[in-house]
Parts: sequence; C-alpha cells; structure tokens
Amino acid sequence: MEKLSLFSLKRITTAVIVLIVGLFLTTSSIQSKESGDVLRAGIAKIDIMPAKPVKMAGYGSRTGLSKGVHDPLSARAVAFENNGKRLVLVSTDLIGFYNGTAEYLRKIILDEFKLKPSELFLSAIHTHSGPSLAIDKKKGHPNNLEYTESLKAKLIEVIREALDAMSPVHIGAGIGHSPVGANRREIRIDSSGKSSIKLGRSPYGPTDKEVLVMKLAKPDGTPIAALFDYATHATSLGPKNYIISGDVLGLAEQFVEKILGEDVIAPAFAGASGDIDPWFRVLPSFNTEPGWIPEPVLLGTMLGEEVVHIFRDIERVFPGGEIKTAFAAIELPGKQRDEVSTKEKSPTAKSLNITAARVGDIAFVGIGCEVLTEIGMAIKAASPYKHTFVITHCNGAAGYLPPKYVYIEGGYEVTSSHFAPQAADIVVKQALKMLYGL
Ligand SMILES: [Zn+2]
Repeated sequence: MEKLSLFSLKRITTAVIVLIVGLFLTTSSIQSKESGDVLRAGIAKIDIMPAKPVKMAGYGSRTGLSKGVHDPLSARAVAFENNGKRLVLVSTDLIGFYNGTAEYLRKIILDEFKLKPSELFLSAIHTHSGPSLAIDKKKGHPNNLEYTESLKAKLIEVIREALDAMSPVHIGAGIGHSPVGANRREIRIDSSGKSSIKLGRSPYGPTDKEVLVMKLAKPDGTPIAALFDYATHATSLGPKNYIISGDVLGLAEQFVEKILGEDVIAPAFAGASGDIDPWFRVLPSFNTEPGWIPEPVLLGTMLGEEVVHIFRDIERVFPGGEIKTAFAAIELPGKQRDEVSTKEKSPTAKSLNITAARVGDIAFVGIGCEVLTEIGMAIKAASPYKHTFVITHCNGAAGYLPPKYVYIEGGYEVTSSHFAPQAADIVVKQALKMLYGL
C-alpha cells in the first residue's frame, strides 16, 4: 500500500511537471504568434482617370490630346505589416514615373506615411494609352500638370486606405505561362544583304513567358487580392490611338477582377519587358469590325484567364510571413550617346534605384528602369526564392537597360539606353546580393 502510493505520487509529480512544461510551451508559442508573426495586409483601389483630355505617353510622334476612353485606369495598393515592419506595393495603370515624377511622388508618399525608401514599390504597368505625367510648368501641358497633381492626392488616398484596412492575411503563390508577350527585336535583311534589328516580332527570340501570381486571403479563406507579374510592354495600341486604355496589362487586371468579384483586387506588375511587346503590337485603334475581338481585349483576356487559372490552383495559403526590405541607389556606368558596340566607355555615371523585399518566402525586386527580359530571367533563375516578382518601372524611370550581348546587335533599346554595356551585369549582381541579404 505504502509502496503503491509512493509510486502514484511519483507518477502524479511527473504528470504535473509535463503539464506545466506543456502549458509553458503552448503559452510561449501563442505569445510569439501574437507578438511576432502575424502577417496583416490591407488593399485598396482608386480610379485615376483624367478629368480632362490629356497628352498621352509613350510615342514621340503622337501630338494632340486624348479623344475618349475605352477602359478605366486605376491605382491599386497592397500594404503589408508584421511586427511593426511595413511594405507597400502600388501598381498604377500608367506608363511609368517619367519627367522627375518618381522622385517627386515617392518623397511625398514616404514623408506622409513615414515609410523607409525600401518599404515602397511605386510601379506602373507601362500602358502607352494613358496620360503622361508632368510637374515642370514650362514643359508639361496644363491638363497633364493638373492631372499629375490630382494623381498625387489619389496615391496618398489609396495608400492610406490600404494601410487603414490592415487585418490578418494568409498568402500563397503560383506560376503559370502565357504566350501573350513576344520578343520584338526582329532581324531584317535589306536588298544588299545587310542585317539590322527593327521593332517587330521575333517569335524565337528570348521571351519570359512566366506568369507569377500571389494570392492573399482572409484567415477564413475569402480571397482579397491576386497580384500578378508578367513581362510585356502594354503596347498593343500604337501612336495613332487617342483612346485611353490600360492596354494588355490593364485589361487583364480588369478581367481578373470581373471574374473573381469586386472584393478582390488584381494589381499587375510589368516584368522585365524592355524587348517584349504584346503578340499584336502598336495597332491604330480598337478594331470594331463585326465578329472581330479587338486585339488588346483578346490578349488582355487571355493573360487574365491564365492569372485566374493560377489563382484557383493555389490551394494552400499560409498564415504568417516575416517582412524584410532593402533599397539601393546604385551608380552605373553610362554610355556615350552613339555607343552601340561593346567598347566600354563610362563618360557619366547613371543612378538606378533597386528595391528588394520579401513577405514570407515570396520575394520582390523593383527596378527603376526598363529592363530587357533576359535580365529579369537571370535574376529569377538565380534568386534564392521560388517565387520572385521582378517589377520594372518601379521607383524610377531611368530608361532601357539591355544585357551586354545585345549591344553588338544594336536596335532601338540599345541606341536609346543611357547605360554602358556592362551595366546590366552590375544590376543582376546587386539585385541578387539584396535578395540573398533579406
Ligand atoms: Zn517601353
């Protein structure tokens, strides 16, 4: 009897210790979840249509003001927060932040929300059927100056709304492919047998066909956002078009939102697409022939359907996810005005903004210029993350960045680039260094 109760006492003591230790472990894990690893996100969308006719961006030969609207332009914001660390991704249905507007708008946004430079990705889908931005009163059309001022207020509003709407979120990502974009560096041979590169369609040229989708859902599974990244210029419409449109990427956003419902936003990000145009390119207008599906709509819908397929295939979304960010303004060697060979000269350094971030194990690289597709593919291939969004026209507008080898071939992107041939390698290495450092 006495032996038995001693034995029971030991067992009870052991059980109590196990219980206390277990309780301690449970409490501490709940505490760490509450204080450290609750990922929250907020989304918002705002109409950024010009109130008046405006000068349209992207083609030097197009003068005069816009004459109508085909589909709406919007700005979409996704704000993340975890343990006091924030990240704000903004996608706008614009060509990009040219004419000094990237620095101007970024500074206002960073100051307004006390964000660090690394915590803001201000990007554009590069539509060539939207307004150009202007802050210089001597150069900008009054309607574009007015538009840019109204845009400033709207960007503040959409970001504030996203930051104010923060609630716990689960995330996931998936990959698909689309043939909507095609390499545009077409080889032409003249009657004397001389070859040159012209803007056209090069169906066998390097083309990043990957469609990357990030899904955001509430903890109960209700989806709230489908972020997608695809490498194409939004230039199925050309210089003869005077009708406002988000073009291929904008129309894809609108399609995805129509299918997934109005509570879901679908911000698009232009991947490395300096040498990629839509399969049908620079058309004069939306074709209204009976039975004809206008090419921008056809391609935008095709891309949008792939985004929805990928989105629906993302079966698992995960809670939590640490946020890390990094920013670098790097000096790159500039090329001489007429330099199209690989002869390396660095007359003046050119500055380029690179922003890197991750939310959980989904990574983002923002590049402040127009990057050719080979560079984006190189960054994605060597990234330590399975899902890496390469976002161009982001936090700057420093023009074309071609890989070194295409300087021998020449062509539009090379002649209009400000960068020396060796600049692209420096950018790839810098982006990877930042990704590995997150
Ligand atoms: Zn472009």
